[in-house]
Amino acid sequence: MNSSAYLDHAATTPTRPEVVAAISEQLVAGGNASSLHTVGRAARKVVEESREAVARALGCGPSEVVFTSGGTESDNLAVKGTFWHRRAQDPRRTRVLVGTTEHHAVLDAVEHLVDHDGATVDWIEVDRLGRSDPAQVRELIERDPASVALVSMMWANNEVGTIQPVADVAAVAHEHGIPMHTDAVQAVGQVPVDFTASGADLLTASAHKFGGPLGAGVLLARRDAALTPITHGGGQERQLRSGTLNTPGIRGMALAASLATQDLPGEQDRLAALRDKLIRGALDLGLDIEVTGAHEVGNVSARLAGNAHLRVPGCDGDSLLYLLDAAGIECSTGSACQAGVPQPSHVLLAMGISEDDARGALRLTLGHTSTDADVAAFLEALPAAVERARRARSASRGGR
Ligand code: PLP
Repeated sequence: MNSSAYLDHAATTPTRPEVVAAISEQLVAGGNASSLHTVGRAARKVVEESREAVARALGCGPSEVVFTSGGTESDNLAVKGTFWHRRAQDPRRTRVLVGTTEHHAVLDAVEHLVDHDGATVDWIEVDRLGRSDPAQVRELIERDPASVALVSMMWANNEVGTIQPVADVAAVAHEHGIPMHTDAVQAVGQVPVDFTASGADLLTASAHKFGGPLGAGVLLARRDAALTPITHGGGQERQLRSGTLNTPGIRGMALAASLATQDLPGEQDRLAALRDKLIRGALDLGLDIEVTGAHEVGNVSARLAGNAHLRVPGCDGDSLLYLLDAAGIECSTGSACQAGVPQPSHVLLAMGISEDDARGALRLTLGHTSTDADVAAFLEALPAAVERARRARSASRGGR
């Protein structure tokens, strides 16, 4: 059996072949979309057609699409740009309400505002399944609505796949005229994302998570969303994001967005069936493995269809990752290293999981190229990897 399996689609999912072809064609065509001559105007046409395609795929108007270099830039523009603008309008607005399980692109942007711009943070907590409660958001806002600059809550979590009540939180924020940003990087292509229906003011998406190229993304920004730009220059993209437009990347992203949303219900069911098979198979191995977050067979509204997150007691996730990699299985622990030292995930800790339990974390994420064979290869390789990782852990502890 071919045991090579890519189970890390949340990190990045392979670029679709049709997208590669479109990008290559556009690279050859060339042109700066701001130039007035023929080739420039042709590039501009591609950009505007792409803007319309992205808008159709994500449920917004074309004029709400701001092209960026990806999720990190869009998150920074949304969080810092809104904070700076709102505080300039009213200096009392210094509070940022943000989820404890957000991606570092949001958390570190907020931290920057705390360190340099006098912001304070009110944390929106999560329960054991990673879900926030709109009632807590209401309670935090109502302590002093006039002091809130913005609310930021992700659509779906990148480690454990929990889907958040974005529309409910947007509605609470709007009762007090407060703008709401949502990081939908993991959601697009996995769940239907309709910007207008969500009620959010700002939404982040990144092409390489839904079959488009690396280094291309969007910030969807309602026409009345007021932002201070973080880059200055040519004034492209409603003066919000200066810089020559990445026409090949934009064209590729638009095609990927159309393809990823075209057959979404069918693809969700297919991925959920694979996810459920993976989770059930891992739990049935008799290795005391636990599943993190909500898990209900066939459910695609509480957890992303393509996300499985397991905790293997008595193991270090990093050892498991390397052992699985050697066996041809590419996956992730979901959390980052700092200075070469694996850190327990802030997401798992926020969910109330102990540091020790958080260490044996494995994130397996599925996407458009995933098959039954990938799941079977993982389940075949897992027992030996767990056994070796457990031996390594007890040897290192015994040696102390
Ligand atoms: N937000 C979330 C939830 C993510 O998962 C990621 C990437 O992993 C990002 C933001 C950053 O996106 P990008 O890689 O496009 O900078």
